[in-house]
Amino acid sequence: MATHKIAVVGGDGIGPEVIAEGLKAFEAAGVSTELTHYDLGGARYLRDGTVLPDSVLDEWRNHDAIYLGAVGSPGVPPGVIERGLLLKMRFELDLYINRRPFLLKGDNGHDFVVIRENTEGTYAGEGGFLRKNTPHEIATQGSVNTWRGAERAIRYGFELASARNNHLTLVHKTNVLTFSGDLWQRAFDAVAQDFPDVETDYNHVDAACIYFVQDPQRYDVIVTDNLFGDILTDLGGAVSGGIGLASSANMDPTRNAPSMFEPVHGSAPDIAGQNKANPIAAILSGAMLLEFVGEQAAADRILAACNANLDATGSTTEIGDLIASAI
Ligand code: ATP
Repeated sequence: MATHKIAVVGGDGIGPEVIAEGLKAFEAAGVSTELTHYDLGGARYLRDGTVLPDSVLDEWRNHDAIYLGAVGSPGVPPGVIERGLLLKMRFELDLYINRRPFLLKGDNGHDFVVIRENTEGTYAGEGGFLRKNTPHEIATQGSVNTWRGAERAIRYGFELASARNNHLTLVHKTNVLTFSGDLWQRAFDAVAQDFPDVETDYNHVDAACIYFVQDPQRYDVIVTDNLFGDILTDLGGAVSGGIGLASSANMDPTRNAPSMFEPVHGSAPDIAGQNKANPIAAILSGAMLLEFVGEQAAADRILAACNANLDATGSTTEIGDLIASAI
């Protein structure tokens, strides 16, 4: 049996609480792991100013995957942890796919997946200020779209659609974003030539918001850019059982660097330390991690145990124990 080297960042607030339940599920599923725990996040930053040292990134490159709870604390200025830790990790490790699955409860178990481009767009950090703090201040925030970046995200979407139900929807705003949207549409049409069996569709992002609420069954796999994907996947979480169930993967499908798996929710300072957080999103993220490192059977068992207990109530540890015994 292979032993998987996993870097664990519990992080802040409810992060360590939910990750503990995820690790409990790994154990119940009988997978062999070698864990390295990292003390990173808002609390660490407030203590000694450390965010994400390059030496830690180098260590992570020797791991098979990263399992992260949540990072962020009240008192840390906006952007320090987001840009300095989460975005740095995505950019430096080139985790170009953000994959978020959604299960619609009580709807014959219909599920769909959003593939969000994870390294470019408005999140690339292009832009700046002119005449800052004057009445004539100018701020620009560019959207960076490379053919390579769009193409590889779109290709992953087509590959996933082929492995599922042969249906892929591109979501963008091509009628207004006529430069980036045009590049995305052309890249989509070009990659589609390689997947003749996949039926394709297109929605503007504003229309997609309506469909997410009114008719999410129309979707199977969606591919979209970084900003639209960020917003759309929070909406996806809200229409499919809530933030306590939403899981995500930040992936390098080429496996050049370790991929990172985390629940969509944040550190939830309002309920931290009270054993109240729902650990299912973290446990489902752990199942994606196991699938990615080749433990399909264990991942399937964890997924089945979670799906059978989506309505479980109780404390964090009670829900974790329930799922561990179901596994
Ligand atoms: P961030 O910026 O890190 O995403 P946030 O405060 O915007 O932080 P969350 O930390 O996700 O967002 O919290 C949003 C709300 O959802 C809070 O009221 C929180 O208590 C609740 N919440 C988040 N995760 C969970 C969970 N696993 N179980 C129960 N409630 C949760």
